Amino acid sequence: MFKKSFFPVLLLLVMAAPLCAGETVLGLPLHVQTLAPGAVRVWVGDHISATAVCGVATQKGIVVIDTTNIPKLDDAFRKVIARELGRSDFKYLINTHGHVDHVSGNGVYADCQIIAHEAVKGMMEESFRDIPRRIQWNEESLREQKKRLASGSVKDEEKAAAEEQLAYDTLVGDYLKSSPQPAFPARTFHDKLVLDCGDVTFELYQAGGTHTPSDIFILVPQKGLLFTGDMMADKWLTDVPGCLATFAAHSGQAADFPVLTRNWQALLDRKAEIRLYIPGHWNGELSAAGFQARFEYLKTMLADVEAMAKSGDDFNGFLAAYTLKDKFPQLVGSPGISNQGHQMSVKHLYQVYSGKKWLVSELQGVIMGERFATEFPALRADILKNRGQYFFTGADLNGLGYFLMQQLKNTDGAVAMFELYAELFPQDWNAWDSLAEGYYTKGDKRKALELYKKSLELNPGNENGRKFVELIEKELNP
Ligand SMILES: [Zn+2]
Repeated sequence: MFKKSFFPVLLLLVMAAPLCAGETVLGLPLHVQTLAPGAVRVWVGDHISATAVCGVATQKGIVVIDTTNIPKLDDAFRKVIARELGRSDFKYLINTHGHVDHVSGNGVYADCQIIAHEAVKGMMEESFRDIPRRIQWNEESLREQKKRLASGSVKDEEKAAAEEQLAYDTLVGDYLKSSPQPAFPARTFHDKLVLDCGDVTFELYQAGGTHTPSDIFILVPQKGLLFTGDMMADKWLTDVPGCLATFAAHSGQAADFPVLTRNWQALLDRKAEIRLYIPGHWNGELSAAGFQARFEYLKTMLADVEAMAKSGDDFNGFLAAYTLKDKFPQLVGSPGISNQGHQMSVKHLYQVYSGKKWLVSELQGVIMGERFATEFPALRADILKNRGQYFFTGADLNGLGYFLMQQLKNTDGAVAMFELYAELFPQDWNAWDSLAEGYYTKGDKRKALELYKKSLELNPGNENGRKFVELIEKELNP
């Protein structure tokens, strides 16, 4: 039975005032915000989660932070930033991380030095290699969006957001199909970099380990600004948080976390110098308290999971007891913090500190497409042979099975996954119930009936199973 369980497939801007009410860029509403004297932030959209691009005037020239995933937008933003700052001597571009919606317009600043964490280039190479697949996803998504809008099923209050999303995704598709070339950062760093621009300095701190391995914090003390990329927000201005949807430690390795906590602590020690915390998308806000609370949460979790991994105790027992509600009640309901994200963090950190393999991440690269059928049998055999080297929960296996069945429409793959679930957790009634559903979907009703009955033996209260037994018996003996 499908249960809503996790599957990883994931300050107030006091000076905020739109300066150019009614102005549009590529048909999308433009917003310009003054962050500090000589520092502006621009974005498009009233509803969708779009990247915000910032420009800061310095004695050495204009420093831009981030680009979008539509270079045509960045062309326009460059002109808006120049107009707002009253100059056009662009000098540096800094990427907060390597996601496509923060680096794709880098080529618009080819005349500037592009600076980023050393992990950004690899992320860009991967996303450029993936362009054929991204085009396919974009086309599928556009078809779905158009169909939905044409069907009349979109409620009036959702229409503006749906139309804006369609316009935005159409621009992304046009860009992807234009044979784009990457503009990689020319200057990279590992731990920390200070960019001296005369009257203004930019302190870049490696902060990878949550959103991506390439995340950085950018402190601009003379302007009282801290740029936090897509790592976190504690207030969402729309109900589509985009990249700001999850705060979780899901991308770091053992060596990354001490750097992240050291750099984060260093910024907390200087909080008196920070007036505004600025997430990478316009529709998230971050307060000083939210910034600190997320640090305390991460630091505690790192210490607890590391100690647990070294103790050699049972992980599933620890995971079941280490809940957000019990351990971090102050964060329950805070934007970006969820039970799913919390579990993902605990599992990822356990993997990092125990050296064991988490089944879900082992499958990450193979679950999509052809590779699953050829590679899963060997993985399954290895799991059964070397069980102690892996860790997983029943919910992980169940989630993977339903992902295969519902999202990827791979029923044979789902049945294979549910079979492994039942083999590893034979006393879990839900394993047999899910396996039964797999066979039912495949069309093998007799096998499904037998398995539903087995599930009911383990849990006579399984109403879903009881309903299916009745249904299948009727179908088999009309
Ligand atoms: Zn991102």
